[in-house]
Amino acid sequence: MAKWLERWLRRYWGYALLVLLIFLWPNVGDQFVIVMVLVLSIATASYFMFQVPGLPCGAGNRKEGTFCRNNSRGLLLGCHIYQHTWQRLKFVFLGYAFRYGWDRRQRIGQTIREGIATLALIATIGSTAIAGIALAVKK
Ligand SMILES: [Zn+2]
Repeated sequence: MAKWLERWLRRYWGYALLVLLIFLWPNVGDQFVIVMVLVLSIATASYFMFQVPGLPCGAGNRKEGTFCRNNSRGLLLGCHIYQHTWQRLKFVFLGYAFRYGWDRRQRIGQTIREGIATLALIATIGSTAIAGIALAVKK
């Protein structure tokens, strides 16, 4: 495997799984593929929750209206500051991504990355649910 590909995969394997999922979904039919989709969906969802690199922490600072801009990993976890770790959790399903749009100092690349990661997380959670139901119904 090429070195750059290996490095890319180590950081962004969740995106690779996501692509794999997109190819698997149209072929869902037999039980084996559904199980594959279920496992991949769970793995990908947890990647976006806890692993995806290069996001801003975004926890609220003491000073009203400013946000922590340390790097963080995953959509659910904040940066190394302990109090920030779980603060993001509150925002995930409250459209926090929109809030960043209003903080103009936020780098646009990070905002886009975060938007994509959020969409991917929602998609994989949906994918997990649908595959789980499909599996339950099949039995
Ligand atoms: Zn922080």
